[in-house]
Amino acid sequence: MQYCYWKTFLYCDTLICQEPFLSSNFGKMVLNIASKIKFCDLCEVCENIQKSPKEKACLILRKYITEYRKLGERLKTEDQQAEISFYPVLRLLVPKFDRERSAYGVKEHALAKIYIRILCLPKDGMDALKLLNFRSPKAGVNQAGDFAEVAYFILKTRCGEGKKFTVEDVNSCLDALAQKHAAHDPRGMDDELTRLLTGMSEMEQKWLIRMILKDMKLGVGHIGIFNAFHPDASALYDVSNDLSKVCTLLHNPNKRLHEVEITIFSPVRPMLSEQCDIQKVENCMKNSAFYYIETKHDGERFQIHFMTGTFKYFSRNGFDYTDIYGSNAMTGVLTPLLSKQLQPGVKSFIIDGEMMVWDKNIVAFRSKGDNIDVKSLKGGSYLQPCYCVFDILFYNGEVLTNKPLCERIKYLNSLITPSEGVVLQTERNIVKTKDEVIEHLNEAIDNKLEGIILKDPESVYKPNSRKAGWFKIKPEYTGGLMDQVDAIIIGGYYGDGRRRGIISHFLLAAAVSKDGEPEEFHSLVRVGSGYTMAKLEELIQKMKPHWRKCSPGECPPGIIWTKEKPEVWIEPKNSYILQIKATEIVESSSFKVGYTLRFPRVEEIRYDKKWTDCITVSELTDLWQRASGKLYSRHAYSIDPEASSPKKKRTSSHQPQLGKQFCSADVSTATIKSALLEGKEFCVMSDYNGMTVQHIETQIHENGGKFVKNPGPSTFCVLAAEKNIRVQSHSNSKQYNVIHTEWLLNSIASHKLLPWTPQNIISVTPETEREIMLQYDVFGDSYTEMSTKENLKELLSKLESKVSVQKISVHEMADMDIELFSGPSPMGIFRLCIAYFDIPSEDDFEAFCVRKSLELQKLDFEYYGGIVSTMIDDGTTHAVVHSRCHTRLEEIKLLNRERRKKIHIVNENWIKDCVDQRRQMDERNY
Ligand code: ATP
Repeated sequence: MQYCYWKTFLYCDTLICQEPFLSSNFGKMVLNIASKIKFCDLCEVCENIQKSPKEKACLILRKYITEYRKLGERLKTEDQQAEISFYPVLRLLVPKFDRERSAYGVKEHALAKIYIRILCLPKDGMDALKLLNFRSPKAGVNQAGDFAEVAYFILKTRCGEGKKFTVEDVNSCLDALAQKHAAHDPRGMDDELTRLLTGMSEMEQKWLIRMILKDMKLGVGHIGIFNAFHPDASALYDVSNDLSKVCTLLHNPNKRLHEVEITIFSPVRPMLSEQCDIQKVENCMKNSAFYYIETKHDGERFQIHFMTGTFKYFSRNGFDYTDIYGSNAMTGVLTPLLSKQLQPGVKSFIIDGEMMVWDKNIVAFRSKGDNIDVKSLKGGSYLQPCYCVFDILFYNGEVLTNKPLCERIKYLNSLITPSEGVVLQTERNIVKTKDEVIEHLNEAIDNKLEGIILKDPESVYKPNSRKAGWFKIKPEYTGGLMDQVDAIIIGGYYGDGRRRGIISHFLLAAAVSKDGEPEEFHSLVRVGSGYTMAKLEELIQKMKPHWRKCSPGECPPGIIWTKEKPEVWIEPKNSYILQIKATEIVESSSFKVGYTLRFPRVEEIRYDKKWTDCITVSELTDLWQRASGKLYSRHAYSIDPEASSPKKKRTSSHQPQLGKQFCSADVSTATIKSALLEGKEFCVMSDYNGMTVQHIETQIHENGGKFVKNPGPSTFCVLAAEKNIRVQSHSNSKQYNVIHTEWLLNSIASHKLLPWTPQNIISVTPETEREIMLQYDVFGDSYTEMSTKENLKELLSKLESKVSVQKISVHEMADMDIELFSGPSPMGIFRLCIAYFDIPSEDDFEAFCVRKSLELQKLDFEYYGGIVSTMIDDGTTHAVVHSRCHTRLEEIKLLNRERRKKIHIVNENWIKDCVDQRRQMDERNY
């Protein structure tokens, strides 16, 4: 009986279109490869892949893909328009990564119920129970936990031979299933599934179930599948999240992604550089025997395309600036000069480089700090654009991106004859060691340049890639190379958000001194970052009694500010000094000093400094002149200051010296006062709270301990109060316990060795970490000790940075809804909907009412799980247009007509009714 019932379904064939090979494309019927591929063949391949060891499995898949591509080529000969993308299959092989189809909302339990119904299984019968309890070992020794496998065995005796569906059919049914789920139409979903399942063999059904459950269990992961398709597929998917794009762009297996992106006169996304700390530069130099060091120009990234007399200039973001620079030898501010420098035989090219500003008067480049926009230069001025070319992507019809850099740059020599102030080749040197790189960085610092670029000669040109063999090295990436500025707080500003009602930003000043005494304080910079809430609160508490309201229009006595005025001010003698780190000193009329600091952040609040110790205006001017505004004039040395120093200084008079922190304390006359630290060896790495390293070492000695300059196997712990390079390197190595110096001083003060708490740990060895974890939770809260006000404060400040919210996608949320509510959640009515709200911008009363009404609906929409989009893009599913304002309705409709994936255009009542009914209403009624 069951069998007959099954057969009737099997042969009704309502769904299976035998000649579905033509699909519609803009009204014209075109061939589609997916309609030529039998679903059963794909399942057969999956079956073979699953049964084979990994390497063989990959070979099987590669072979299948090759055959697929060949079939595609054949179809193309029949119809040039034929759709031959691998996408219809790839989305079935890696269903979890298919972002175009939304969730099906079907889990094992729902499938079990459908099978029980369509197979007419007795509800309490063995097979029905096996399906429902597929996780139980009773489901079958090898199949338990695998619903598809359990179903396969139950279906084995009940199915026909299938073989009727094509890949296109299956994709259409799955699309319909997802749509019906989104439309909250469980009956429609049921019909769709029944139709699919009843027309397939048991093997087809097994794989279909896996596709629906989005767990293929192929034994080859998605990366293996991507790689079998194309070596760049995984990388492209990572940046695009779009399987269809992966299949279209990488259809040709012999074309690498970077070649695919190269077309003359279309901007190529430039290759980027990874940040590199000079102290860790060896890690970036492992690939090749030598590396190039290039000047890091301080201009704007530009690409120049040329073919048969026509030039195009594209900025980093792909904007066309040809109008300014000139499309041919007769127009623009650069092309008339540049075109003269082209060598004979050059027919076409794409070059990459930096557009700089050349000052004919001083015969040198101007820097970005001079605030001259290279895109607004006019012809006939003493300032002109000069292009510094460092790479070539395309030459006389040949794509070069796949060639290593060392070969690419050879083409540059036969391309352009350099000309001062017009076009130059970037200076390039060869280096082999870290010390050589340091030398070049120091030279760049001396020459007041931003930094250097290190390039792997073997690197191919990868558009938009930041991890492909180019490294930017700037002094600011290395702690200790920057000059810091100690400025005094003279004013305050109230914050907003979390900092509402408290003074969170400060106006800082430099002193004007006479005979070493500050006479006046001149405003210098406004700063509002770098400190934690806890540190800020402590500072505010200290300053609280001294703030005064500013009277409009006048500066307080002894203080001068200009355009940038604070809300409250403080007398310098009651104020504190902030240690500021910034990248540059730049000219500014907003501050009395005439300069300000670029990207300022508070490094430390210097309670240990007197208010009179702040930087003076003349010191600031000296800094400005020393490095042309750049706040780094110090040189880089190797990390171990005792070990190596740069071999040869080129232009600098700086010699590596042993800093005072590297000299040991002289304890020859010190007496031992206690045995508290007896048998323990310490390594002190930084000053603390006004105490020098030597002072701390003396205290260790006086309490019976030993100290060393470099930690070794017998070192009890490293003591530090700041994360300088050495501390950072020991912290990272996890070889030693690195503890805050405060712990030692507190122990000495309380005459007993206090236990280490998370509050005074900078970094510990894995063993110590295990011990600490037995006593404290991840936030550093003790399981046994009572909290004090202080440690609670500290804890809360850490909490903010430690609590990480696990992000889940809307699709995962939709799946969770299904699991938790056995269907869509009443609180997630709009889950998976992305709506654009057409809010009118006019100012009349009617528009105001519509705006308010839509804004309220928008809140409801978001509250119930929808996502609001600010424009109609690929992801948009709905456009909400108010029933009283149709100004843009026609425009939206037109846009919709042109889209492949249509959106629902609904009025505000759709949202209202959905919320009232707690379900998604049919959009067609709105
Ligand atoms: P990024 O470009 O890396 O996103 P960014 O725009 O902040 O960062 P920087 O970090 O200062 O710029 O440095 C990278 C930029 O340096 C490149 O984008 C490029 O414009 C410029 N540059 C200058 N000289 C070179 C060079 N020789 N090779 C490559 N890039 C260079």
